[in-house]
Amino acid sequence: MAGNCLECGVELFGRKDKKYCSDHCRNTHHNRQNSYETNYIRKVNGILRKNRRILESIAPKGKGKTKKENLQKAGFDFAYYTNTYTTKENKTYYYCYDYAYLDIDKGWYAIVKKKEWVD
Ligand SMILES: [Zn+2]
Repeated sequence: MAGNCLECGVELFGRKDKKYCSDHCRNTHHNRQNSYETNYIRKVNGILRKNRRILESIAPKGKGKTKKENLQKAGFDFAYYTNTYTTKENKTYYYCYDYAYLDIDKGWYAIVKKKEWVD
């Protein structure tokens, strides 16, 4: 027995590696999969772009400082960033594309644009 169609669940006969009962089911399944991935990626990109926009608004010239609550009020989502950079002093910059924030002290964050590191 080859299992069930991944799309409609109908029992499959024939080749063991068969996954769908028909071309229609294969296409429908792939389209749904694609739209799920597309939606997810679009949602994450939207959050990252919003984060970057907020950081840029605080540090339009590439350097700035703000309180955590200001970021939160603006709708900044700390769960999303594109990459991190940890210095020798063990300080970690969280990037949203070319802008990064760094937890400096007591609820304050430094905002920097790439390559303009704060010491
Ligand atoms: Zn099917």
